[in-house]
Amino acid sequence: MGTFWGPDFAALERGDPEIAHVLLAEVERQRSGLQLIAGENFTSTAVLAALGSTLANKYAEGYPGERYYGGCGEADHAERLAVERARELFGAEHVNVQPHSGAAANLAAYAALAEPGDPVLAMELSHGGHLTHGSRANFSGKWFHPIGYRVTADTEQIDYDEVRDLARAHRPKVIICGATAYPRLIDFAAFRQIADEVGAYLMVDAAHFLGLVAGGAIPSPVPHADVVTCTTHKVLRGPRGGMILCRAELAQRIDKAVFPFSQGGPMMHVIAAKAVALREAAQPAFRTYAHQVVRNAQALVAGLAAEGLRPVSGGTDTHLALADLRAVGVTGRAAEARCELARITLNKNAIPYDPERPAVTSGIRAGSPSVTTQGMREGEMRQIAGLIGAAVRSDPDTTAGAARLADAADEVAGLVRRFPAYGRQEVMA
Ligand SMILES: *Cc1c(COP(=O)(O)O)cnc(C)c1O
Repeated sequence: MGTFWGPDFAALERGDPEIAHVLLAEVERQRSGLQLIAGENFTSTAVLAALGSTLANKYAEGYPGERYYGGCGEADHAERLAVERARELFGAEHVNVQPHSGAAANLAAYAALAEPGDPVLAMELSHGGHLTHGSRANFSGKWFHPIGYRVTADTEQIDYDEVRDLARAHRPKVIICGATAYPRLIDFAAFRQIADEVGAYLMVDAAHFLGLVAGGAIPSPVPHADVVTCTTHKVLRGPRGGMILCRAELAQRIDKAVFPFSQGGPMMHVIAAKAVALREAAQPAFRTYAHQVVRNAQALVAGLAAEGLRPVSGGTDTHLALADLRAVGVTGRAAEARCELARITLNKNAIPYDPERPAVTSGIRAGSPSVTTQGMREGEMRQIAGLIGAAVRSDPDTTAGAARLADAADEVAGLVRRFPAYGRQEVMA
């Protein structure tokens, strides 16, 4: 075999010290704080190696065995491995691993299932849905006719009766479920029934949670959905990218909607990295990780509740915690900034029926995937909840508040020293 001409950091430092510095500073940022963005994770160094490989040089428009370019033998091999591994892992009839991102996967899925102007029924953005589920700022809201369903005011969970009523009234071409800030399980069978009743396609956007499905920690949408779209970089812990799983009879339409309709050449280095991640996700250790992700999110939610941060919907079944801060009188925006000062990275997030503007919000969203990858468990999650509670209540403009935030940052430093991302060597202060 040949030589792996992989990442040569010394060459980068010589040739482009500014970007070399950015990369080092980013490693330090990721390792020196708590990463609680629900859609982030730490890939393996094997995934990073594939991303930094010479497959990045290869043009491979088309699909394995039918490319528009020569020299695609190894690209074909990588893509076939990625597709086979995904099909096996999720029991899917057909898989397309070429979408550059979750949003690109959704664009292709809409293109395969609907015509411009068709009604599509999806969860409202302000209730946990995604921009690609019909926001006016996105193609999905401009090119299709979006109808939004919500969660109920009391349970803060999906109101399946409302979904059915809206489906009957509007006869959508596609019904979409799967969200970006919905902590509970989704009843895919109920959505399937509603879709069948009105003759709609059921598209499940599993961008956030497909990794939990891979690890057997939550039920799979695959048996119920016509199309499942996802990202590969969230709980699934692969490279940044998208993927589409579908029934055999939709295979051609999905493939054509990805290429040539919405994309050009696939990123073959990313596809190789997706294959690596999918192999990792089939290992027993990944099952342990996925189950721990859920237990950690539940411990986090319980800890936040004890701090007076009310869990939206009463809890979580997944990897994410959504908390209502109104009882402590702090906005989501202020809470995010205060946590940042304590080296805790999470995001402000609208809660259902949020009285605040989207730029302010009444809530925060925190996810357990990254810290679970680092090896943290329920005890650490309770500690983190305490730190978040303290940070949220600490006004940095007061002496006492600033001191408490500094104490919290010290405690965070201790935690990440015990559970370092990427290797067990001491984290530089
Ligand atoms: C993250 C996410 C996406 C978009 O993924 P990108 O890779 O950022 O384009 C789409 N849908 C849902 C529900 C998501 O959570």
